[in-house]
Amino acid sequence: MIEFKGAYFDGKISRAYPVSVVFDGRRLHIRGVDGDYPALDIAPEDCAITPPLGNTMRYIKLPGGAQCETADTEAVSALEHLTGRNAGMRLVHFMEKRWKTAAAALAGLVLCVWVFVTYGIPFVAQKIAYSVPPELTEQMSRQAIKMLDRRFLKPSELDREKSRELQGEFRRLYREIDGDFDYRLEFRKSPYIGPNAFALPSGLIIMTDELVKLAADNRELQAILVHEIAHVKKRHALRSIIQNSGVFLLVSALAGDVTSITSTAASLPTLLAQSGYSRKFETEADRAAAVYMIRKGWGTRPLQAILLRITRNMAGYPGESLLSSHPLTDQRVRYLRDIEASMPAPQGSGGIK
Ligand SMILES: [Zn+2]
Repeated sequence: MIEFKGAYFDGKISRAYPVSVVFDGRRLHIRGVDGDYPALDIAPEDCAITPPLGNTMRYIKLPGGAQCETADTEAVSALEHLTGRNAGMRLVHFMEKRWKTAAAALAGLVLCVWVFVTYGIPFVAQKIAYSVPPELTEQMSRQAIKMLDRRFLKPSELDREKSRELQGEFRRLYREIDGDFDYRLEFRKSPYIGPNAFALPSGLIIMTDELVKLAADNRELQAILVHEIAHVKKRHALRSIIQNSGVFLLVSALAGDVTSITSTAASLPTLLAQSGYSRKFETEADRAAAVYMIRKGWGTRPLQAILLRITRNMAGYPGESLLSSHPLTDQRVRYLRDIEASMPAPQGSGGIK
């Protein structure tokens, strides 16, 4: 039973009659406290309870233009509960009354979205990237290189001897670092992207003739190759395009439809030839290359030297690239020096973890 006091207006004159209101579970009984006017028994379906707003008075509209007002907001809330009225507005009222709760809930929501975007999406993208079957990776890579060949690359004019020599060094490198994966090295000439190298997710690494010519020695090229092998090993290309693909693709891939990844394949050439990887992925690949070279006893100087030279020589080429698009080359060089300073003296294997 709900009971509260209030004022009754009959809708004809503006007089307020003090009343007591009782709801017995079936009907509202409104009785005047100073006499017998009014004396009403009304079904709750025939009343309208005005939605609560802030801590104001509550009004119950009665048939025939009469109404009851009360300051007992709790009793009216209880009445709404029992009669199932104003459920949506009650939430608004709850939020208004508890704006701190509302603000905290909003902050919580923003935090959830931030955590999801910063950690959730990359985490899910990584899981998906490692579950993409090799045939699919191969197919995407083939399409990408076809497109890159058409737009940015020309057949290599490197002499056979140099090419054979680098192929031999490349084989030794990847067998040591990631022997179970099928890596390949191919050369291209590119007046567009200039001295450059990039890796397709299938393990095909492309190095331009311009880069071979720019290198002071093969060790600099090996440093670049280890960096590219790290991009492949850590699935950076797939992870990048999956991360950038949006939630729809993530959901469908998580639901088991990994082939939906192919819908993003079109962005692969752009990623490789123009936009480049995120700073985080570049740092990961730099670190892998640095650790390998330091353990080999080569130090990071060859990689520093070639990065600086690439940056200096990019001016004449219209294409941006993952190796050279960094105005951040100085930062990368500093990072390589820092790793070298923090690592113990060389020895042991040069694997990428
Ligand atoms: Zn890179």
